[in-house]
Amino acid sequence: MPKFVYDFTEGNKDLKDLLGGKGANLAEMTNLGLPVPPGFTITAEACRYYLEHGNLPEGLADEVNAHLAALESAMGKKLGQSDDPLLVSVRSGAKFSMPGMMETVLNVGLNDESVHGLAAQVGGTETERERFAWDSYRRLIQMFGKTVLDIDGDLFEDAIEDVKRARGSDNDVDLTADDFRKLVERFKTIVREQAGREFPTDPREQMDLAVEAVFNSWNAPRAILYRRQERIPVDLGTAVNICSMVFGNMGMDSGTGVAFTRDPASGQQGIYGDYLQNAQGEDVVAGIRNTVPLKDLERIDKASYDRLLEIMETLENHYRDMCDIEFTIERGKLWMLQTRVGKRTAAAAFRIACQLLDQGLIDVDEAARRVTGDQLAQLMFPRFADRVDGVRKLTKGMNASPGAAVGKVVFSSERAAELARAGEDVILVRRETNPDDLAGMVAARGVLTSRGGKTSHAAVVARGMGKTCVCGAEELDVDVKNGQFTAPGGVTVREGDLISIDGTSGDVYLGEVPVEDSPVVRYFEGELAAEEGGDLVKAVDRIMRHADERAALKVRANSDNPGDSARARRFGAAGIGLCRTEHMFLGDRRQLIEKLVLAADGTERQAALDALEPLQKSDFEGIFEAMDGLPVTIRLIDPPLHEFLPDITELSVRVALAGDEADEKDRRLLEAVNRLHEQNPMLGLRGVRLGLAIPGLFGMQVRAIAEAAAARRSAGGDPRPEIMIPLVGAVQELEAVRDEARAILAEVREATGVDVPALIGTMIELPRAALTAGQIAEAAEFFSFGTNDLTQTTWGFSRDDVEASFFGRYLELGIFGVSPFETLDRDGVGRLVRIAAEEGREARPGIKLGICGEHGGDPDSVHFCHEVGLDYVSCSPFRVPVARLEAGRAAI
Ligand code: ADP
Ligand code: MG
Ligand code: MG
Repeated sequence: MPKFVYDFTEGNKDLKDLLGGKGANLAEMTNLGLPVPPGFTITAEACRYYLEHGNLPEGLADEVNAHLAALESAMGKKLGQSDDPLLVSVRSGAKFSMPGMMETVLNVGLNDESVHGLAAQVGGTETERERFAWDSYRRLIQMFGKTVLDIDGDLFEDAIEDVKRARGSDNDVDLTADDFRKLVERFKTIVREQAGREFPTDPREQMDLAVEAVFNSWNAPRAILYRRQERIPVDLGTAVNICSMVFGNMGMDSGTGVAFTRDPASGQQGIYGDYLQNAQGEDVVAGIRNTVPLKDLERIDKASYDRLLEIMETLENHYRDMCDIEFTIERGKLWMLQTRVGKRTAAAAFRIACQLLDQGLIDVDEAARRVTGDQLAQLMFPRFADRVDGVRKLTKGMNASPGAAVGKVVFSSERAAELARAGEDVILVRRETNPDDLAGMVAARGVLTSRGGKTSHAAVVARGMGKTCVCGAEELDVDVKNGQFTAPGGVTVREGDLISIDGTSGDVYLGEVPVEDSPVVRYFEGELAAEEGGDLVKAVDRIMRHADERAALKVRANSDNPGDSARARRFGAAGIGLCRTEHMFLGDRRQLIEKLVLAADGTERQAALDALEPLQKSDFEGIFEAMDGLPVTIRLIDPPLHEFLPDITELSVRVALAGDEADEKDRRLLEAVNRLHEQNPMLGLRGVRLGLAIPGLFGMQVRAIAEAAAARRSAGGDPRPEIMIPLVGAVQELEAVRDEARAILAEVREATGVDVPALIGTMIELPRAALTAGQIAEAAEFFSFGTNDLTQTTWGFSRDDVEASFFGRYLELGIFGVSPFETLDRDGVGRLVRIAAEEGREARPGIKLGICGEHGGDPDSVHFCHEVGLDYVSCSPFRVPVARLEAGRAAI
């Protein structure tokens, strides 16, 4: 049988899985010889058992008895003993800190008798002692009532307010022993009325019930929500710490506070924290009374202040990191109640890592480990200035894609593009977006939707583009037809009104909030030299250099135009991993695709292709130029053709309404749209299938690539094209396209007299491709894992359909901790990637392997790619620095 209970002297900081963060660090501090009130920890394993079986594991009671007995004999008093009670706190504490999400009960052990014992044992005048004891008692009933008995906390707060009002004060320091005695009676009545039982007076029963309540608080709705947001696994459970009480509410020579060893917002060294005299721990957080800055403690109690600073230094040196601390002073004696490596802002993380590096506390590998790609991403988004005057907050949606955007409201993709062309900043507001809104999203500064979650179309696409997005702002009623939306409070916002959206917080404002450029981006852009950028930019520069040095993976960018390519290069991209050629068919060129689809015969088709070719060629030339000397992987057209055609419903209506008058072209178009209509376009005529079904289409693209490369070469450039065939499932498909491509490359070589070698490879995005990778590698010079489609086809999920409908439920049930479209599913999709990588290499040693799905910019997925030994990841230009950092961290 496992050991379920650890004394604080038995644990250490590395036992977080078992003891939770709080318990592990209480043990660590105890063993460092710091003043921690004695106690013990019940493991998270016991909690897991309890949550699974609904009862406590066998043997736990005996262990708790033994540890409680030991604690009692060490303290020389018994739990709740009437003449001199031992009191304890029962505190939650999981592996990952979940601030305020779970429960804690203080002063366990008090009842109608021991409250007198407590009063008799403490110092001070009789009034002071009485006041302290009854205050402690009412706190117990209040916390116990809320936490263990599930009573609405407001009932207790209201009762306190009543007493304060009667006393004519708004400060609980003015309340007397008598007031608290009355409150205890009132609270007991509340318990009786609300819970249908008496407040338990048996100290041991209090403790046991509190332990179970803490276990149960793991599944409190807010804890569940917090875990989902923070990607904390659902099944860890929480440990419970039983800690002997110390009292910050014994008078003005007592108090409680929190402290940071450095500023968690900026990383600067100094004295940061808050202190509250004559109070118990939860008062500080609850904000009932105004705290004083920690610095003031020096004046209030110099000895404790000096001791605290000494301990803070000990902790920083010991943890080699910024720590945060909870402490209590009982009559001039300092007690440590909690410490942990402190949460910090992204900027502080970079600064602190470099400060510790300078102090020699950590090495540069460790400094890189101390920051994350997500933090870097946060530093790259433009942000709103702190002051928000004269603007009204409309609502809060989901913070889908960070950044700050200000612009005029528009409700359609067309209008967005139109106004943007006229030089206006716009925010595209929709109920939800779909692929038709792409142009509008590109044109807009930001996107706001009233429906859909963090993995909705709007969110995913916006993140990919590095565009600010707030989604699922459900309080908004978006009325696209009438060009307006309404917000709570009856505010109506019309097209053309200015709004500001904060993709980092999800806040939506009416009016303009000033936006600031991120210095980190200006540094990556080369506009700001590292030396001139202040300590944050210097820290980023230092860590990025090290990451690049360590990285085994290269980082390429997904880009289909020269501007993005150039930016990606400035951001450190080692080439293009995915150039989507279909993006070049949007806008005005749509008509050419229509012609292609409507072509009645080979001649008409060829004419359409001939019109497209020079356009494609010039696109490619621009990209080759921006990426001169670096590989550019160009994917031949992938999506089904109907995506480029008008909407079937709209068109049918138009034709039907026109009746006999209908445009001949519209009629033919409708016919074509109907012909191309598919039940499951994702699994239909697309990718390589399109290339094989529509003669000349792929050939036109290959020719454009070859001619662009030849032109660049003739102009003295160094183009490095790689031609990529999408959606291959069988080597035969690839062979057919490859042979055609080779022939065209040879023709162009012949015609231009310029020889530009081009690799021909394939996407691996179907399970069959992964499983037959050995065969496919015979015909492919490189593989690029298209993990978006591979995830869709492996799970059988249609991304656009599943994310809004049942993913929330799946996350709740813990079927996955994070959407497999955000972070690569290692067990399933990852397994296919491994198999394909292995078998591909076996068949063709040295075959180039990369990944080009959304996952290429996701930190966890980058680590996976490193483990599998891919050559590169490819992600959106804006994510390139993030992926570079993670590629380095993965190699450390
Ligand atoms: P949280 O995880 O929400 O911070 P804690 O378990 O740390 O919850 O407890 C809440 C408050 O009660 C904290 O301010 C803490 O310092 C205080 N506290 C907890 N245990 C004790 C104790 N044994 N003596 C005095 N104060 C305590
Ligand atoms: Mg705490
Ligand atoms: Mg694909």
